[in-house]
Amino acid sequence: MNYYSTNHQSPAATLQEAVVRGLAPDKGLYMPEHIQPLPQEFYNDIDRLTFQDMACRVADAFFGEDIPQETLHDIVRDTLSFDVPLVRVGGPIFSLELFHGPTLAFKDVGARFMARLLGYFIHREGEGEVNVLVATSGDTGSAVANGFLGVEGIRVYVLYPKGKVSEIQEKQFTTLGQNITAIEVDGTFDDCQALVKDAFMDETLNAHMRLTSANSINVARFLPQAFYYFYAYAQWRKQTGQPAGARPVVCVPSGNFGNITAGLFAARMGLPVRRFIAANNRNDIFYQYLRTGVYSPRPSIATIANAMDVGAPSNFARILALYGNSHKDICADISGATYTDEQIADTMRKVWKENHYLLDPHGACGCRALQEGLREGEEGIFLETAHPAKFKDTVEGIIGQPVDVPAKLQAFMQGSKQSVAMPKDFGHFKEYLMGQ
Ligand SMILES: *Cc1c(COP(=O)(O)O)cnc(C)c1O
Repeated sequence: MNYYSTNHQSPAATLQEAVVRGLAPDKGLYMPEHIQPLPQEFYNDIDRLTFQDMACRVADAFFGEDIPQETLHDIVRDTLSFDVPLVRVGGPIFSLELFHGPTLAFKDVGARFMARLLGYFIHREGEGEVNVLVATSGDTGSAVANGFLGVEGIRVYVLYPKGKVSEIQEKQFTTLGQNITAIEVDGTFDDCQALVKDAFMDETLNAHMRLTSANSINVARFLPQAFYYFYAYAQWRKQTGQPAGARPVVCVPSGNFGNITAGLFAARMGLPVRRFIAANNRNDIFYQYLRTGVYSPRPSIATIANAMDVGAPSNFARILALYGNSHKDICADISGATYTDEQIADTMRKVWKENHYLLDPHGACGCRALQEGLREGEEGIFLETAHPAKFKDTVEGIIGQPVDVPAKLQAFMQGSKQSVAMPKDFGHFKEYLMGQ
């Protein structure tokens, strides 16, 4: 299947081209040319399938023409090496816990899938090493570094701002070794991003080494996120005894809108969803778009749900493409919500006290949007996008109690940090890469 650019100024790309390039040459986002609905019998029996088997069926619909089935299924099974349980928080509200992967956040799914798919393409071409450059403010770096760890033929350079990521986050990408190099930039996240951008533009450097990115707009990171919407639905049917055809409301804490867009794709494939809610923190660009029909990006504001501090959601272009630019059609399927830090903290305290369920600040936006948005007789699922222990200090400050740190996270804390110190000027960075 081919992929078109949302800007329509670049030729269609193959899956491999779309994955290696990330962004289309015209700076648009790649979209699959078709979204194939799955047959009714798949939905009738969905609660009898395992997560992996269900995901293989979904993967076949997107990637089946481009990758031999056995290879594709190996990639899917290897990606989904952990469970994504659906847990009832209270009443009609369910949490889809996406934090049981290696770095305890949902980005593990996309990062692990992309690493394996890119590894397959490199191996198939018999070409030399590929170098992934990724700038991070915290969570992306850990998911990408751990997703690509040990994948043959790929080297990863994670650029992060010195002193501006939490210790837990830093340990998740500076202690790995093998094919992962952490670069500690004396600057801000924007400086890190600028270094990566300059590297992609530099002809000498690109002649010296093959460079690619692993950011969240990549189709190989974005599409696999559709897998767990099907699994959420199957578990909900099983746990509640709802009949085939019953439809839950699905609520997604959103920043760059990749996660919710994957859910919209699942719905296009026939997944029964009543409607979607996009929950924002104070960075409510999408919420305002729903209200006014005008999309006006603006600089992001820092909040306690910091992985959603996005002022220009990159996947907005995909939502527009999916709905033929119709504001009316978008509003028919998706509603919005926006919460201040105070409201997020209140929700965390209240749900902890009343339901003994510990939310992280991102999931709290999703939970609250369901509490406020569900209508009589409806049930809803929100995506719990990260484990609360990833935001230990914030969460402890809010609930006034210590938070248990899962063994997986503690293991990272025991490793010793290895990083390359780098000033924020491109000359130094280029010289370093030329020496690799
Ligand atoms: C990345 C992230 C989000 C936002 O997801 P998008 O796909 O960018 O909308 C939400 N919560 C957590 C914990 C994240 O890491």
